[in-house]
Amino acid sequence: MPTSFYTLIENSFPEDGRQIAIEAPDRPHDRKHGRASWSFNELKAAVARYASLIAQLGLKRGDRVAVQVEKSPEALFLYLACLRGGFVFLPMNTAYRTDEVDYLVGNAEPALIVGDPARENELHEIASRHGAVQVLTLDADGRGSFSEEAAKVRDAQPIVDCASRDLAAILYTSGTTGKPKGAMLSHGNLAANGLALRDAWAFTENDVLLHALPIFHAHGLFVACHTTLLAGARMIWMSKFDRSEILRQLPRATVFMGVPTFYTRLLAGDDFDAKLVGHMRLFTSGSAPLLAETFDEFKSRTGLAILERYGMTETGMNTSNPYEGERRAGTVGFPLPGVEVRVMNEEGVELPQGEIGDLQVRGPNVFSGYWRMPEKTAEEFAEGGWFKTGDVAMIDAEGYVHLVGRAKDLIISGGFNVYPKEIEGLIDEMPEVDESAIIGVSHSDFGEAGVAVVVLRNGATLNEATLIARLKDKIANYKVPKHAFFVESLPRNTMGKVQKNLLRDTYRNACT
Ligand code: AMP
Repeated sequence: MPTSFYTLIENSFPEDGRQIAIEAPDRPHDRKHGRASWSFNELKAAVARYASLIAQLGLKRGDRVAVQVEKSPEALFLYLACLRGGFVFLPMNTAYRTDEVDYLVGNAEPALIVGDPARENELHEIASRHGAVQVLTLDADGRGSFSEEAAKVRDAQPIVDCASRDLAAILYTSGTTGKPKGAMLSHGNLAANGLALRDAWAFTENDVLLHALPIFHAHGLFVACHTTLLAGARMIWMSKFDRSEILRQLPRATVFMGVPTFYTRLLAGDDFDAKLVGHMRLFTSGSAPLLAETFDEFKSRTGLAILERYGMTETGMNTSNPYEGERRAGTVGFPLPGVEVRVMNEEGVELPQGEIGDLQVRGPNVFSGYWRMPEKTAEEFAEGGWFKTGDVAMIDAEGYVHLVGRAKDLIISGGFNVYPKEIEGLIDEMPEVDESAIIGVSHSDFGEAGVAVVVLRNGATLNEATLIARLKDKIANYKVPKHAFFVESLPRNTMGKVQKNLLRDTYRNACT
């Protein structure tokens, strides 16, 4: 592998750099003027300009660039510019509110924040609380002070030669503790996983990926972009998942990647059928369990089998159903080349095939640890470099991995992770509340959604609407419980642990 991941990416581009690399047909301001597109040469030039600007702002190799912007091709160029210049990219969910951004900035200490112009004042306030952080802006149309400054850059600096172990990105992921932890991913982690997926899924220069995922998450940013860029293939860049826009673009695409919610939404109308997608080479699904009924309905409607794969922020992709060979509903397939998986019991002994236990993974894709949390990092690794995924799994006689549960009490709503502890903490802080439990229940659109079960203090009053409104002020919408129920007490087992299984049972139809 060449020393730098970014060099590897550029080396994968087609020889004729005038070919289109990325187009953004649903850009608000370009809609009037026809389609916005960038050739590979234009992409390279923009990335070089952005990287040079960041260096001119005084950032050094290893400095963090925190980014909370709407999805746009320029936002992708900004990520690539960080790879190119040796800066560490730190994407933030666009739904994060002030407190959430403040925590991340305080923890990661970025030297530069690039944010939405509509939230510039707020970002300046956050920046001023955390030392000398610079703030620039970029909006959904690629406009803002960041691109204005970049347009003035004349002399592009050379690609910074990053070693495999150098830090490329920090992606925050919440844990059972409720406080987000920064997963440190190296250039080597990203390159290894990108190449493994490109080859496993047979990407070539002729592919066109219809990209509808958000890019503040590993799925949309790494899995989707790296497989495509490393094949020198083209992307149709949708600002978000909009069903009718997706149907309009599908005839021009060869590959589509989604979370299960995308598939249930696509299947919701009869206009999604074999005629529309018969030419497609590949549909992949991940980030949350794809129900067997969705897999089956997709197959009977289109004749195509969705390829389900499994990964996480800390590891990139670990397993995938086969490109050639049987894709099995309800399984996440086999370990990717170079990745090892094993199932362990509570005593740390490896279990034979067919038995259920904790899933651990090892490989060049696995991150090096949580940013500035050595103890937490040590807790999550077993001896020999095995990462404890927190997922409960079984490997069947033919080697297919089945995920059967989550040890970490996680709720996955529309593909986004909701950690109950974080929300429970916020509810428990409310003066009227004694204690609370957040549980995941089935949701017809999001797959799963959070519901709050709350015990009030003696004599206190609080209603559902007020509780939900208060949470909406503090946290991203997808984390806000869809309903709140008030009860006398929470059911507990003899160890005093809240019996969430009983609550899940009681409220199982709350969101259907
Ligand atoms: P994240 O770090 O946001 O990517 O979330 C990782 C978690 O998502 C994993 O630990 C799994 O619990 C879950 N996950 C990812 N892919 C799948 C899948 N195909 N099926 C079930 N759960 C999945």
